[in-house]
Order: sequence, then structure tokens, then C-alpha cells
Amino acid sequence: MTGAHAPLTLAGVTAAPGTTMSGTLDVPARPGDSGTSIPFSILHGASAGPVLALVAGVHGMEYVPIVALQRLRSSIDPASLRGTILMVHCANMPSFLGRTIYYSPVDSKNLNRVFPGRSDGTLSERIADVITREIVGRATHLVDLHGGDGNESLRPYAYWITTGDPKVAAESRNLALAFGLDHIVVDDERPKDAAASMYLSNTAITRGKPAITTETGCLAQTDERSITLLDQGIAGVLRHLGMRAVGPPALTSPTWLKRNSVIRAGATGLFYATVERRDHVAAGARLGRITDFHGQTIEEVLAPFAGEIMYVVDTPPISKGEPVAMVSAT
Ligand SMILES: [Zn+2]
Repeated sequence: MTGAHAPLTLAGVTAAPGTTMSGTLDVPARPGDSGTSIPFSILHGASAGPVLALVAGVHGMEYVPIVALQRLRSSIDPASLRGTILMVHCANMPSFLGRTIYYSPVDSKNLNRVFPGRSDGTLSERIADVITREIVGRATHLVDLHGGDGNESLRPYAYWITTGDPKVAAESRNLALAFGLDHIVVDDERPKDAAASMYLSNTAITRGKPAITTETGCLAQTDERSITLLDQGIAGVLRHLGMRAVGPPALTSPTWLKRNSVIRAGATGLFYATVERRDHVAAGARLGRITDFHGQTIEEVLAPFAGEIMYVVDTPPISKGEPVAMVSAT
């Protein structure tokens, strides 16, 4: 980076070098909904460097990232930072305040399937559009912070997206290693079309910006262990990018998960898991069963291959086509 380090302005809020400023991005109302707002902070370092976007709350019941960023905002001193952190504290306010898993209570869409969004679309599509333009547009690197949703029991892991520009993929791999979660899902199936990027991290990648998705915490809990894991992950990324001198070292030999299967319900009813996160299962092992609303078993859910349970639904409601578990193997 060369030249003078200018102030950074977002949504009318200007952060001078070495300061932290906060504000909200507005998603204006349109016929059909009343709009929403997206709280953000700019931690603008004293000197120029990478612009790292940290996004929490794309899924509003994934609380660990949301709570972690609340604390991290005041614990990072911008005067000792090189570059800039753009924090999105809660991307999906309707889902957060409405306490919904997966889908917005306003338009029933999954925000992490509608990127890059549309300026004239439904509320989730407009949130995606604002984040794409205002956050991804300003960032050089991005971490999309997720966890098991309110219904999911999940072990921590990260996604490394391999599709697209090999240089971007190589640096995304470095981000995954720097974040430090020792199980990394290798995802080679994401769309390469920037106009149909679907996922937030893929929206950054298809625009030439290295990115990862991380998963810490689950079941609507805010446990300290998961928050610490996430704090350590961000500290590792800041060190890797040269934004701070201190931080944990990158992983050298994580478990790369190249075979991954999201198992979906074949029926609607009640799901009873018979495995737990981190369990290792054999091919064909029973993961759980689905009953109808009178208690009769209507489906046995089986493992498609031998692997580890990354997450499993741990609450009864299940609808046909929804995920019940993810099994991964090396
Ligand atoms: Zn999520």
C-alpha cells in the first residue's frame, strides 16, 4: 500500500486513521416491507493495509459471532492496527429480532442464498445488495462468521472455497489456515458467476477478494468456549494479514474434508437424532429417524459414507428437503 492513508467513509460515517466509528447502513422500505438497518463499525488503522470485512448474523440465530463482535469492537485498538476492519455486527436484523433459523421472517428467504442481491428485490435480496456494494465493495478480504443455527448441533469448522481464480483460492486457503479451526471443508462446487454468487463469501471470491466462511457455536447458545475460538480465529487472520504483530500461528496440518454430504429430509415431521456432532459413523449407519405427527417412523436417515458428523439437527421440527445432518470425510 502506498500514498496517504485517507479517512474511510461508510453510510455517512467517517473514520479518521487510528479511530473506531460506528453507524448503520439503511435498507430503505419498499412496497411489502418496512426495510431494515445493518449496524457496522469501522476500525480504521493508523496506517494503510488490508481492509478485512468481518460479517456476523447473516443467519440471525447464529449468536456466537454476533456476541463476539460486540466485544471485539472495543478490544481492538485502531491506533495499533495496520489496515482496516469493517465489522458488520448483525447482517440480518429481521431474522435476529424475529428469532428465526435459516429464513427471514419477512420474505422467507435464506440471506446466504440470495447474494449478490437486488436493489429492487425482497428485503433479504436488498440486504444482500447493500452488503455486496458497501461492505464487499470496500473489502480486500472477508470472513463470513456463521455457526450451527438455532436447531443445529455443530462441531467447529471452516469452509475453503476452491473455485474461481487460483490466486484468490490460494489466499483463501491461507485465511482458513490462519483462522485456525482444525477441520476445513474443501468446497469445490460454488458458482463461479459473480452475478449469481449465492453465498456471501463466494460473492467476495467471485469479485477477486479472498474469503472464508467459519462455523463456531450452535443451538442458539453463546458459550464462552465458542466465543474464544472465534476471537482466536480473528486474531490469527489479523496476524496473517500483517494487520497486527501478535496472534496465534496458522495451522500447518488441519483435517481437510474433501468428501462432504448434506443429508436432507425425505419427509416432514419430527426428527430424532441418534448421533451427536463429532461422532464418527460407518457407511449406512443410522443418523436419526423421522416420525409423522402421530409418532410413527416414516424415514430412517442413513449415513451415505463413513465420516464425521459436522452438524446434526437437534430439535424436532423437520420439513421435507431441509438438512438433517452433514457428514464429512478426508
Ligand atoms: Zn449460517
